[in-house]
Amino acid sequence: MKVRSAVLREMGLPKPYKDSRPITIETLELDPPQTGEVLVEVKAASLCHSDLSVIDGSRPRPLPMALGHEASGVVKEVGAGVTDLQPGDHVVFVFVPSCGECIPCKEGRPALCEKGAVSNTNGTLLGGGIRLHKDDETILHHLGVSAFSDHAVVSRKSVVKVDKNIPFEQIALFGCAVITGVGAVVNTANIKFGSTVAIIGLGGIGLSALLGAIASGASRIIAVDINETKLEKARELGATDVFDSKDPKVVELIKEATGGGVDYAFETAGVVKAMEVAYAVTKRGGTTVTTGLPHPDHHFSFPQVTLTAEEKTLKGSYVGSCVPNRDIPRFIELFRQQRLPVDKLVAKFIRLDEINEGFDLLAKGEYSRIIINEF
Ligand SMILES: [Zn+2]
Ligand SMILES: [Zn+2]
Repeated sequence: MKVRSAVLREMGLPKPYKDSRPITIETLELDPPQTGEVLVEVKAASLCHSDLSVIDGSRPRPLPMALGHEASGVVKEVGAGVTDLQPGDHVVFVFVPSCGECIPCKEGRPALCEKGAVSNTNGTLLGGGIRLHKDDETILHHLGVSAFSDHAVVSRKSVVKVDKNIPFEQIALFGCAVITGVGAVVNTANIKFGSTVAIIGLGGIGLSALLGAIASGASRIIAVDINETKLEKARELGATDVFDSKDPKVVELIKEATGGGVDYAFETAGVVKAMEVAYAVTKRGGTTVTTGLPHPDHHFSFPQVTLTAEEKTLKGSYVGSCVPNRDIPRFIELFRQQRLPVDKLVAKFIRLDEINEGFDLLAKGEYSRIIINEF
């Protein structure tokens, strides 16, 4: 079938993207779903910093690639062997498909799936297939999904079935921002009730982490960012303290306010400076967690002695250490009870052909989430 998709053909074009137009909306041929795959009509797709990292070249991928991974939609057709989904089911996409067979999958850590990592790096679906073409040219898949498109064919392992009663625009966020941010708090850090938390970086993931910390009973939640609008948003969502990270004394101020630092600090910006702040404001015996994805050439360093003498713990968190089949339904249930109000993150809706302008807005940081709901 013919689909309209957002294709990236060149990385690193200059901002603003409204002028350089790195993404073109193209009519592509989408093959039908093969064994173990599904065809999904995409209903809502959110612009994420991981897309932006491919566009600006800080997370290089093979091109041309059809972007988009934080999305939701309706199953239209299932391939052979798919017995647990049927046309009409609502699904959210997950950006690391997990095979269920490799050692990390068997250990209950599907975010680290070996096959999923290979297929995501190569720009294919799980198992190596590519279903997008333009004449004789192959168009690669972004993170096994390619959701900035009216339809997508993906592995069954790239979607989780969800409740039909929740709007697609809200469901979409659960596949990336929410599982990454909330998961970092409840799975990777597994924070204790009453503990103190700092969140450095208040994009969709940071604000989701903030909501996760509130839901988990954190007693003090320090929100840190360079952007005043985001600090206001954090306060509105329930941060107890906010700090401008442009202030050269930000570390001292947070330590002073918390009597020596926080139990858990989360870095969600993917920026070395933010990681340094997160580590520095983690108290003796505390834990620093990062969900950030900086350029592979960027290095974070710290005095090694502090790990020992202060018994600090440093943890990475990918996909929020989530088991998507287990966690997404749980998080959606908390959302339904208004205990995880991720709808408050959504700020702007756009059409597919406004995507370059949308990424300019995302890069500026004025909106927590920008969602395409017209394809
Ligand atoms: Zn994402
Ligand atoms: Zn696996």
